[in-house]
Amino acid sequence: MVIKQLPAIFEPARPVLQRIEDAGYQAYFVGGCVRDTILGDHIHDIDIATSAYPSEIKSLFKKTVDTGIQHGTVMVLDHDTGYEITTFRTESGYQDFRRPDNVTFVRSLADDLKRRDFTINALALRENGEVIDLFNGLTDLKKHLIRAVGKADQRFHEDALRMMRAVRFASKLNFEIEAATLHGIADNAQLLSKIAVERIQVEMEKLLLGQNPPVGLAAMVQTGLYRYCPSLSSAKAALTQLALMNNWQLSNATQAWGTLAVALGLDSHSSRAFLKKWKLSNQLIENVQTSLPAVFAIKARSVSADILYHCGREGLVNANQIAAVFGWALPMTDLLARYQQLPIKNIKELAITGGGLIRKGLMTPGPELGKMLKWVEKAVVNQEVDNRPEEIIMAIRQRKEEL
Ligand code: ATP
Ligand code: MG
Repeated sequence: MVIKQLPAIFEPARPVLQRIEDAGYQAYFVGGCVRDTILGDHIHDIDIATSAYPSEIKSLFKKTVDTGIQHGTVMVLDHDTGYEITTFRTESGYQDFRRPDNVTFVRSLADDLKRRDFTINALALRENGEVIDLFNGLTDLKKHLIRAVGKADQRFHEDALRMMRAVRFASKLNFEIEAATLHGIADNAQLLSKIAVERIQVEMEKLLLGQNPPVGLAAMVQTGLYRYCPSLSSAKAALTQLALMNNWQLSNATQAWGTLAVALGLDSHSSRAFLKKWKLSNQLIENVQTSLPAVFAIKARSVSADILYHCGREGLVNANQIAAVFGWALPMTDLLARYQQLPIKNIKELAITGGGLIRKGLMTPGPELGKMLKWVEKAVVNQEVDNRPEEIIMAIRQRKEEL
């Protein structure tokens, strides 16, 4: 197969590959960018593989950066763009090799492609548009199949993360996992427990944000892979149920993890420990925790001003997207219109400040002041008090009498 017109993203990289070829080495675009080109999908970055060793690449180009030299990756800077160029490598047992830190550099493209995970990820593309397909990746692309390169059992044994990658590509591309590959996952699922949670997390998030999360989730259930994911070992029923949902339009990590939390029956409070187990960042956890109360309010068809105020605009969008997966969403425009009408969007918009109350002799510094401000905030949000200094001061005087 020859691709006549490469997508624009490849154009500026072509002279870089030409230069490597002119020096007598091989150079190819490899991995996801080739797959996505043939699928006509968006290409987010390009990977280049070469027979030249890192030192040889460095001698060919003026500006280079050692971004991952121990793995054979050098970044070449050309016209202000950086290209990561990785020497062909393999995992074991070859003649012509060097082996810094477990990586064996080789001169043969075939050896490099052989160590890749799936046939659709083992395609190479020459600068002139020629596609190298040693493992029938093109057929599998056409058939929409995720198939391990070589013996699935052995490949998952070598690297258990590949099992999570299989289910995430099934979702990402809306592909099916080929039978022997699926069996390989079922047989080796327990090996996933050897993999760092952070790496499982990356694949799980991509699965949830893919084109068809139900196929990925169903494969996780079918193969038992879910059992070896953090806090999912007894989630079979919940995941099975989630895989039946057919209105997925998730667009960020908060929505992805929030959806999983809701599917597991967690609330804002209990989701924290779950998300911690997945080693997610504090910021992400906070965002999920902020959105979940709104999800349940949307579900109950009773979204108060308080809820709108506390989850904020972004949190509200996230909540409604999560709710949509479960069929609970409300019209987004209505929710946003109500949010827009809130008297204040945050406490800084209050017409009085703590300092102002002290200066007026209404309050003294201390915990009581904080409490009073919280009370004012809530009263203003709920339109019980107008957000004007004199109204607020009057309300505070009255409140003090009542207390
Ligand atoms: P994405 O669009 O998500 O970036 P990708 O195919 O580029 O998809 P990467 O994780 O960026 O995926 O990996 C780049 C390439 O490296 C893959 O296409 C595959 O050929 C190879 N690869 C990555 N991880 C593995 C692995 N664990 N085992 C074997 N090959 C792998
Ligand atoms: Mg990639």
